[in-house]
Amino acid sequence: MLLDLSKLHGQRQHFDRTFQPSAFEPPDEDYRVAIPVEFSMDIERSGSGVFRVTGRATTRLQLECGRCLDEFEVPVDARFELRYVPQPDAATDGEREIAEDDLTTSFYRDGTLDVTEMLREQFQLALPMKPLCAESCRGLCPECGANLNRTDCTCEPKWVDPRLAPLKELLNRPKEN
Ligand SMILES: [Zn+2]
Ligand SMILES: [Zn+2]
Repeated sequence: MLLDLSKLHGQRQHFDRTFQPSAFEPPDEDYRVAIPVEFSMDIERSGSGVFRVTGRATTRLQLECGRCLDEFEVPVDARFELRYVPQPDAATDGEREIAEDDLTTSFYRDGTLDVTEMLREQFQLALPMKPLCAESCRGLCPECGANLNRTDCTCEPKWVDPRLAPLKELLNRPKEN
């Protein structure tokens, strides 16, 4: 959804929207939007070309467990407050005005605010550092790849002393005639 900032009525405007997961295709690499996103936002002019956004987005994101590779969902309730200023020219990039408050500053381009992009950024911020289906996830067997949450495989835990590894390799080498 692209919001034409020149078409905002008055000083402040309120939006309520539901975004289908398909609005976030193609998905970001590390998550997928699993259910429709309920979104509300207040946008307010706060100076020449400067907009202040207060928003809230609730949904569920589907992630892949870092240990067992199973997919699982996490609920997201993201509340955020951002300041939008025009994208600086390449020439002046790097020079930023010092703001009086500590709001995160984002940029809009060509007079339009990309709401979908804004939500993608919020979802990224909401992702857990280490995605795990459960704190107690047992992961995959390093030998046979079985998901140890679902099955107990019969593999013996093979631990080779790293100092002996070169020797083992030597012994396993096919004999030359
Ligand atoms: Zn897992
Ligand atoms: Zn196994």
